[in-house]
Amino acid sequence: MQSDSRDSKPLVRSLDLQRRAEQYFPGGVNSPVRAFRAVGGNPPFVARAEGAYLFDAEGNRCLDLFGSWGPMILGHAFPPVVEAVREAAGRGTSFGASHASEANLAELVRRCFPSVQKMRFVSSGTEACMSAIRLARGFTGRNFVVKFEGCYHGHADALLVKAGSGVATLGIPGSAGVPAETAQHTLALPYNDLPAVEAAFAAHPARIACILVEPVVGNAGTIPPAPGFLEGLRRIATEQGALLVLDEVMTGFRLSLGGAQQIYGIKPDLTTLGKILGGGLPCGAFGGRADVMDRLAPLGPVYQAGTLSGNPLAMAAGIATLAHLIAHEGEIYPQLERTTRGIAEGVADLAREAGVPLTANRVGSMFTWFFTAGPVTDFASASASDTASFARFHRRMLQSGVWLPPSQFEAAFVGAAHGAAEVEQVLEAARAALAL
Ligand SMILES: *Cc1c(COP(=O)(O)O)cnc(C)c1O
Repeated sequence: MQSDSRDSKPLVRSLDLQRRAEQYFPGGVNSPVRAFRAVGGNPPFVARAEGAYLFDAEGNRCLDLFGSWGPMILGHAFPPVVEAVREAAGRGTSFGASHASEANLAELVRRCFPSVQKMRFVSSGTEACMSAIRLARGFTGRNFVVKFEGCYHGHADALLVKAGSGVATLGIPGSAGVPAETAQHTLALPYNDLPAVEAAFAAHPARIACILVEPVVGNAGTIPPAPGFLEGLRRIATEQGALLVLDEVMTGFRLSLGGAQQIYGIKPDLTTLGKILGGGLPCGAFGGRADVMDRLAPLGPVYQAGTLSGNPLAMAAGIATLAHLIAHEGEIYPQLERTTRGIAEGVADLAREAGVPLTANRVGSMFTWFFTAGPVTDFASASASDTASFARFHRRMLQSGVWLPPSQFEAAFVGAAHGAAEVEQVLEAARAALAL
């Protein structure tokens, strides 16, 4: 095992594994940003993970600051989650029929998110968002969807318009293969720009089904809502008879137990969830007002289904994760706040000393170091970042054993397994990496 300050062993075995993977998967990956194209260098292959650390194929120990892109708030291989999954697996891995643990998890979700009166479990955040807009359209009888530039809501056709995350990272304007006809009802507006939202409703009166938004953007890097922005969206949606859909796939159970809607005091009509919800297993959910949700089949005319929806292993991991967060809410969230502040602001201070223009945006335990003087308030200002400097920083941090999300336009995540030692480790690595 490598000590914190020593450089990592070269990724010889990982490179072999990457070459082998490239024979089977486009780019060697099953999700594009994993290929490290935005930062260069070879992606380490993970052999195992525990707590705040990933162990790669060469035996390097890497401090994990991307947490499987959000789910791992309790750390990797958290014993209560592992035990719950093991027990559930022994009772059968999939039934295709109802079982009690679905409502057990739903009960915990509703306790955290009182706006989610009824819900449906799916297998990913993509499915949750795709289904939520179908439901919003079916409920309102309207076709248009308002979204925001740099927000990512999964890879459903209609939502791949000016999307963040890997779409921004790869510079793909939307995506090939999405017919213009499919995207023509998606209105992508600048984030934090209420007049643009007013103008969209004025241009398409009584034709907009919903406003879909990441309440805190994570997929363009972290961008907090300006004061009054979410309140304004709520007011406009209500006035215009459209639904407000908060995409809390990333923020749910992370910014607080009740997500962004709890900390900003916003009551949406629908919420989408994922990531932490499944405790590291594939699980998403969409839910909200009972009168809206009851438009779903079999009660209503909006169709939606899933062979593995409500999967017993995913329910078990979700229940173990949420139960732990609920039982330890008072310790975990203040600790996440403290640790993440130490990391995000500590490195911002080092950058200032080093004369490197850097803007640290942080909300709770999600943050981004934008390599720009800032401020970063929307996708346009995020795009002003010096991605070459970010890429160099990323490679140097990884060389010192700290694994950041491999793109300027992705949020970093801290979990409950990160403590004072990990803060120190990041600062020490950053001190060297910022000597650019
Ligand atoms: C990750 C994410 C999604 C997509 O979820 P997947 O499980 O990757 O399909 C949707 N919305 C937001 C805000 C996300 O962060």
